[in-house]
Amino acid sequence: MAKQDARQIDWYSVLGASPTDGLQELRQKYQKLVLLYHPDKQGLDMATREADRHLQRFIEVDQAWKILSNEETKREYDLQLRAQELKQDWPVDAQVSLEDMDWDDGTQSYTYGCRCGGEFIIGKEEMEEEAAIVCCDTCSLSIEIKRTA
Ligand SMILES: [Zn+2]
Repeated sequence: MAKQDARQIDWYSVLGASPTDGLQELRQKYQKLVLLYHPDKQGLDMATREADRHLQRFIEVDQAWKILSNEETKREYDLQLRAQELKQDWPVDAQVSLEDMDWDDGTQSYTYGCRCGGEFIIGKEEMEEEAAIVCCDTCSLSIEIKRTA
């Protein structure tokens, strides 16, 4: 099995949940799975490979819960998901570095002029990630904003 990059794992589907599930639902799903895959719950007659698979699942389920039960990491992950979705829906037309954008003190956001005359706007809060995808407020173009180190 190819080792999956942690970023590519869909933590919601690991829990059999969906992004719209509340914390309570996530907790219930997590608790059910964790009981099912907990190393202590595996029968002695279980084949080693099967036990390994279950342990792997247990680790994933545990990791998914850690990420999704924490407000901070869940928000980060949701943003990541959203960026991925945007990427799939709208191909990125250009890459812009944050330095090239204009800072608006009034709205606490960065803006960048689109060639249609509209603007790309991203709030300071949303720009905590390495990169973000923003759509024009007027047309369907989108840009990827990169934070320069
Ligand atoms: Zn535009």
